[in-house]
Amino acid sequence: MRLSRLHAPTLREVPSDAEVVSHQLMLRAGMIRRVAAGVYSYLPLGLRVIRKIENIIREEMNRAGAQELLLPAVQPAELWKESGRWEEYGKELLRFTDRNDREFCIGPTHEEVITALVRDEIRSYRQLPVNLYQIQTKFRDEIRPRFGLMRGREFIMKDAYSFDADQEGANRSYEAMREAYSRIFTRCGLDFRAVEADTGAIGGRFSHEFMVLADTGEDVVVSCSQCDYAANLEKAEIQGTEEDSVEAPEAAPRPLEKVSTPGMKTVEQVTNFLGITPDRLVKTLIYQVDDSPVAVLVRGDHDANEVKIRNSLDAAQVELADPKVTERVTGAPVGFAGPVGLKIPVIADTAVARMSDCVVGANETDFHWTGADPERDFHVTRYLDLRNARQGDLCPRCGGELQFHRGIEVGHVFKLGTKYSKSMGGVFLDADGAEKLMIMGCYGIGVGRTAAAAIEQNHDEGGIIWPVPIAPFHVYLLPIHPKDTEVVQASENLYRDLTALGIETLLDDRDERPGVKFKDADLTGVPIRVTVGPKNLKAGVLEVRFRKTGDTELVPVSETAALISDRLSEALKV
Ligand code: ATP
Ligand code: MG
Repeated sequence: MRLSRLHAPTLREVPSDAEVVSHQLMLRAGMIRRVAAGVYSYLPLGLRVIRKIENIIREEMNRAGAQELLLPAVQPAELWKESGRWEEYGKELLRFTDRNDREFCIGPTHEEVITALVRDEIRSYRQLPVNLYQIQTKFRDEIRPRFGLMRGREFIMKDAYSFDADQEGANRSYEAMREAYSRIFTRCGLDFRAVEADTGAIGGRFSHEFMVLADTGEDVVVSCSQCDYAANLEKAEIQGTEEDSVEAPEAAPRPLEKVSTPGMKTVEQVTNFLGITPDRLVKTLIYQVDDSPVAVLVRGDHDANEVKIRNSLDAAQVELADPKVTERVTGAPVGFAGPVGLKIPVIADTAVARMSDCVVGANETDFHWTGADPERDFHVTRYLDLRNARQGDLCPRCGGELQFHRGIEVGHVFKLGTKYSKSMGGVFLDADGAEKLMIMGCYGIGVGRTAAAAIEQNHDEGGIIWPVPIAPFHVYLLPIHPKDTEVVQASENLYRDLTALGIETLLDDRDERPGVKFKDADLTGVPIRVTVGPKNLKAGVLEVRFRKTGDTELVPVSETAALISDRLSEALKV
């Protein structure tokens, strides 16, 4: 491809609305353009990267025995009513009506459509297992679309669905997908971890997320430094902490005493004011759990984990209550809530059970209780693991030290069990003639998010550094003086030779200053740059530079194509 004909409008300035580096660089390199919040056009360079990732996904999905199909983006409400998700899914589901007032949505995911397809076609155990996938555009009306392709509203996803006759088969399907995902992200050149994860709105009981490690990640990955335990912070179990092994001094019980804490609302304000450490305070958080308020207690230095709260209470939705609700149920504004005398259900994190002589809100403006004792002074319905793991907590598997990294979720594999086959009648006849429910799994990869994550992990001040397998082009061929006939001739020859070898080459044939070309070469992140200049040509060599290492080599003109071909086959080896 000749750059003069490629629509890749690069930008020198960092666009002001782009917060993370991948979003900035995709805009600057002319890969994407915004159309509306969370909705983007993919320009030729961006689309080439998307297609490369899709092809890797395709190869590995096919290798794992899955078959590609294509389902519609528009889905009728009836299917979602069958599964029960029409009511459950909330505002991320973009719903609309057609001219006949029939209800539809734009698919955020395709469990309903695929389950309906398979239940209507598959009758016998002999037709199972089956794993069907597609690469297709999804729409989720995300509350906060941001970071470009990382969290869009319209985005491209690979989604696969497996159907098995029994649990062992379903486990095999799941493992095959887990392995395929590892191969996919390895081939994309990413540093990632597969971690235990929550299942969210998709449902099911067991899942792993594939996390690309990067500081801009929205998720936190908790992993053990000694064994292979790794989990999303949302899910990471708490078994014990280093401090558990230290025997707490037996303190004489103190009486409950109401103290004035004027205007002191936050943990920091209250503990500073009273001269105590945060682990002596119990935070009382009022959550709206589906339709009713519930008080959740955690130690002052711990963070409540909403996913754990939701799962422990088997709730569909959990969010911090509106301040008005807090005021109504506690009798005091946010900041002074406490469990003593509270009339709503109270659940507490297990660490609270070990506390005594602690400080709690008094449910009265500007007052707290000191000397509180959970057993003596208030009623806790249940003690549960309700907080986030943190530095100092021990691995729930082996007791080793936990580490914390930020991660970007690029893929997610779920065991769905019979959630959809049950609600939608996905049954088959088994060998013994009995009617049984199919056991399902579902498996997603965000294609655009994978591209963005690759940039988050691979860039420098100059721009993107694409891993070879997903680079939009392999070689950036840069003639310094496009008017010098020898330079032009040598460039055209090499362009022809590389192209003949199947090497994707971008020839910068623009009449631009060398500085501009070098900048654009770095910005677009093409792995190998070949500079054709008059001086080197006189000596019979070309300069080959590797974007990742910055290493340059002077290579005889006649050997350049072969050398590049060798290096690329090495990097593209499957
Ligand atoms: P998140 O927690 O980031 O919202 P999710 O758990 O809702 O993700 P899944 O339903 O598991 O995501 O979707 C499968 C994959 O689709 C995700 O692993 C991610 O790579 C991608 N994906 C999900 N939401 C978006 C989005 N808004 N923009 C781009 N990619 C997305
Ligand atoms: Mg989501």
